[in-house]
Amino acid sequence: MKFDRMKKTALITGGTRGIGLGIAWQLAAQGYGLALNGRRGEEEVEPVLEELNQQAPGVIYCRGDIANKAERERILKLAVNAFGKINLLVNNAGIPPAERRDLLEMSEESYDRVLETNLKGPFFLSQALARQMIDWKREQPGFEACIVNISSVSATVASVNRGEYCISKAGMGMMTKLFAARLGEHDIPVFEIRPGVVETDMTSGVKEKYDRLITDGLSIQKRWGSPEDVGKVVASLASGQFAYSTGQVIMVDGGITVQRL
Ligand code: NDP
Repeated sequence: MKFDRMKKTALITGGTRGIGLGIAWQLAAQGYGLALNGRRGEEEVEPVLEELNQQAPGVIYCRGDIANKAERERILKLAVNAFGKINLLVNNAGIPPAERRDLLEMSEESYDRVLETNLKGPFFLSQALARQMIDWKREQPGFEACIVNISSVSATVASVNRGEYCISKAGMGMMTKLFAARLGEHDIPVFEIRPGVVETDMTSGVKEKYDRLITDGLSIQKRWGSPEDVGKVVASLASGQFAYSTGQVIMVDGGITVQRL
């Protein structure tokens, strides 16, 4: 399937629900062609794709597991074949541990599973696409490219019952700096967004716990974050308005990480 090759385009991992979908809606509103990735079958995501396509035609699905090398290659191939070039990579897909376990009980299987999806996958996807972005910039100097990583407040806030998740997000913090440093000479900015507590399928199982914590003052702004809150920041970063700020972290956490006394 070929789309309008003059459009700006984005590949959003985990783009068909939750925060990724919030990002997709904001970028669709800006006229982006969208390659949305996820693991679910085509038939399951079809309604979401249809709704997006009605508002902003030019949305495709690139099914695949970002933790798997061959599938990462396939995801990229599908996206590039459809649009010709990708201007923006949003590394959004991520998982919590299947079971929250105390640090002293965490299994190696859970550690590997979380790290492979939340850190290794985004790292090598960025590496592969960055190489292509550099080539596209050489061919067409005005070509705009950008990478946005969705990490978490867990990059700096320690939760001892999901240490593997915290480690993966802290790693993504360094990954952001490394890619920003390496891609600077090619004028490819790299940003990181650290959401706080966002209402999605990922947090549905701990809804009551966080309702209580928010009421008790966990965040300065006493509400859950929304996928739209994060989507708007991605759209701003991608718009080029933060042209001299590569490598920076933007908190979207309602003030959770503002230290108070
Ligand atoms: P959801 O569980 O609602 O959605 C996760 C998305 O990631 C899904 O689309 C899922 O695909 C996709 N995904 C998961 N694993 C893979 C994989 N191996 N390959 C490809 N796609 C995959 O999560 P959220 O929207 O809440 O979270 C999105 C990101 O934001 C994550 O990185 C998360 O860590 C981070 N975050 C979330 C916060 C929150 O409070 N919700 C707070 C801070 C950070 P599929 O739909 O096919 O299952």
